[in-house]
Amino acid sequence: MEYKLTSKDYNEALKEDKLLGLKCKECGTITVPPKMVCRKCASPDMEVVQLSGKGKIETFTVNNVASEGREDEVPYTIVLVGLDEGPWIMGNLTGIDPAEVTMEIVGKRVKMGGHQVFPGDKYSAGDGVRPLFSFEA
Ligand SMILES: [Zn+2]
Repeated sequence: MEYKLTSKDYNEALKEDKLLGLKCKECGTITVPPKMVCRKCASPDMEVVQLSGKGKIETFTVNNVASEGREDEVPYTIVLVGLDEGPWIMGNLTGIDPAEVTMEIVGKRVKMGGHQVFPGDKYSAGDGVRPLFSFEA
């Protein structure tokens, strides 16, 4: 089996603020982040599609504790976003002070509006890219 969309291609697209996913040709389910087979029916027959990056916040956490070497990145808010296309993905929430984030944000509409590159450190193989979400106007 081959990867229709590699993590590298997925990350490169994120760096251009494009969110890519895989659409199953068997059942229509969208899989993201990329996997080798459909997350619903396990078919490998999928095509690459661009996603809207829109959805709503399902849950979140505020990170105040940095791992070694990342002290200047905290605090930040990590959100789990249920995309309109179905899958849930993780990203960082911008436009609100992490100190002011409450349960009220759960269910709010957000859209992806950029990305943040996290340089590799001794715990990761290389650069990581995370989508940035902000509240939909
Ligand atoms: Zn499927």
